[in-house]
Amino acid sequence: METLSYESGIIYEFNKNNKYTKKVASGTTLKVETYDCFQNQIQSEKTEVAAIDWNKINPATGPIYVEGAMPGDVLKVKIEKIEIGEQGVMVVGPELGVMGHRIERMESKVLPIQDDKVIFNDLELPVNKMIGVIGVAPVGEGVNCGTPGAHGGNMDNKMVTEGATLYFPVFVEGALFGLGDFHAAMGDGEVSVSGVEVPGAATVTLDVIKGESIDHPMLENEEVFTQIVSAETLDEAAKLATQEMVERIVDKSGLPVSEVTMLMSAVGQSEICQIVDPLMTARFAVPKWLLEKLDVRLLG
Ligand code: CA
Ligand code: ZN
Repeated sequence: METLSYESGIIYEFNKNNKYTKKVASGTTLKVETYDCFQNQIQSEKTEVAAIDWNKINPATGPIYVEGAMPGDVLKVKIEKIEIGEQGVMVVGPELGVMGHRIERMESKVLPIQDDKVIFNDLELPVNKMIGVIGVAPVGEGVNCGTPGAHGGNMDNKMVTEGATLYFPVFVEGALFGLGDFHAAMGDGEVSVSGVEVPGAATVTLDVIKGESIDHPMLENEEVFTQIVSAETLDEAAKLATQEMVERIVDKSGLPVSEVTMLMSAVGQSEICQIVDPLMTARFAVPKWLLEKLDVRLLG
């Protein structure tokens, strides 16, 4: 299996004009190495957080050109494996995140990671490793890697983890896929604006799907199929995610909107990904057992 190092190139924005650093055939599995979201600038608590280079934030490794991917297609990304470094870092700061009004200065905390635990003082927090930034080039202007959108990007969705499969709309030839910003742990919301930020490597399989199209990213794991939407407000993101999911199930099942809406109200879950980035991200999750009973395959 091939490895793509961050040394072969990183991006700070998803942009159709980025030159790809790697070209792969559809169906390729490769390992992609990543910096943490501070480009590994904070190695100890002695590092003055305010003094780091804030232009080097949220680097994504890539972009990767996937052969055959054309606008209107779907890029399927199976996350086979996530490996993370031996220490993570968290930061808080004035005006950052939900509690920024109570934080007086930039502070960082370096957190050792041992035996699937994040060590926080004398507490052991369970590792739930995940990928914060993952996506493709958007159709128009470039989008900074700190901002989520229809192209994916900084969705900070804790379901983006080992075993999950993501689906992205393809906007440009080759898709121009990239990823970065791994977290050793993060809760829904990412309330401080930082997960337990870690460098790492993800093994992914990239496939082009023809004949299907989506407006926003989707994700499936063993239990659920989800629609992910980012918008100015969480209200808007949550409603759009729900509406797109209902419409998709209506299209694929032939059931009336009224009944699909009832079913989603009974067993669907409207959930928060994050509430601290320039756009807010929500997901709507449908249990797979229901889709199987309805004999509906949403994608792929
Ligand atoms: Ca992030
Ligand atoms: Zn992060």
